[in-house]
Amino acid sequence: MNKSGKKFLLIFVLILIIATGCESKVEPINKTTYALGTEIHITVWTNNQQKGEEAIQKSFKRIQEIEERMSANIETSDVSLINKSAGVDWVDVHEDTAYVINKSLGYAKISKGAFDPTIGKLVKLWGIHTGNERVPTDSEIEDALAYVNYNLLDKKDETIFMLKKSGARIDLGGIAKGYAADEVYSILKDSGIKHGLINLGGNVLTLGKKVDGEKWRVGIQNPYAPTGTHIAIAEVSDETVVTSGNYERYFIKDGIRYHHIIDTKTGYPSKNGIIGATIITSKSIDADALSTSVYTLGVESGLKLIEELEGVETMIITEENKVYISSGLEKVITMVDDKFSIAE
Ligand code: ADP
Ligand code: MG
Repeated sequence: MNKSGKKFLLIFVLILIIATGCESKVEPINKTTYALGTEIHITVWTNNQQKGEEAIQKSFKRIQEIEERMSANIETSDVSLINKSAGVDWVDVHEDTAYVINKSLGYAKISKGAFDPTIGKLVKLWGIHTGNERVPTDSEIEDALAYVNYNLLDKKDETIFMLKKSGARIDLGGIAKGYAADEVYSILKDSGIKHGLINLGGNVLTLGKKVDGEKWRVGIQNPYAPTGTHIAIAEVSDETVVTSGNYERYFIKDGIRYHHIIDTKTGYPSKNGIIGATIITSKSIDADALSTSVYTLGVESGLKLIEELEGVETMIITEENKVYISSGLEKVITMVDDKFSIAE
């Protein structure tokens, strides 16, 4: 080979090294924020740092937008407007909010009101996680229960709603986080991200597979142990793992734990033996609404509901350390704590 030939070969090899070097340098970018009343973690694995960071920033903006439309604690949100206009006027809401309300009404129907977006007056009365929590009197609870009925939420067309009773309130706290997670998933995917983990306060949604081609391993929390202690591991990809638990938000008064998932029949925190209900499925909005639904329905009705739904699985933990799973879950989870056993 002559001199220029050697030089050419050297440059060619150098370019090859640089090119393959760039190609394989897929690194994680992990960012955290606080929104929707919870800690939010988004991690993406990409070889393009700028693209990854932009996708995460766009996701954070989108979550904030969803919060501004759907929080019951923000004066100008669609939810607050519906609540303020209860018994008085129709409210035309943004299509995001309409989508979530319509979904919530669907889940109210199939759970026979165990999940109910008109839970708002009770949620406010208990004040859990607001700094104003207290145990209401029986008569306050009885009064608030008269405002909890999803048939009170009337619809004129796809985006126009009205609560038919003055004083009634909607609350989308049991479903909005799931919707936000799905929206983040779409943003990341549209940005060309192939591997991502979206975690909205324990609502986990996975994008693609891990960089090594294996499925993600998502831990299911031990309700009695510090965060990060798991009783089972779910192997998933492009799926969500969402848990409703009595250990997430609660206060203790006179030795009794009052948590934030309310039984729409009694008006008190749901007490049917369940301490954790996990849903695994593809859309986080469905998983969020269904984890709250199964939690309040109880083991038997909860399992029955999930078995009727295509592509949805559940794992229920009871206060006796028993674990109940739907029929398709066996292939997906591995139990990792022998204090918990799968009930027959
Ligand atoms: P987390 O917010 O901890 O993920 P959930 O998804 O189970 O837990 O949602 C609980 C929230 O849902 C409560 O804070 C409240 O805003 C709302 N909520 C409570 N009980 C019900 C219910 N029976 N139906 C619908 N929403 C509920
Ligand atoms: Mg929920």
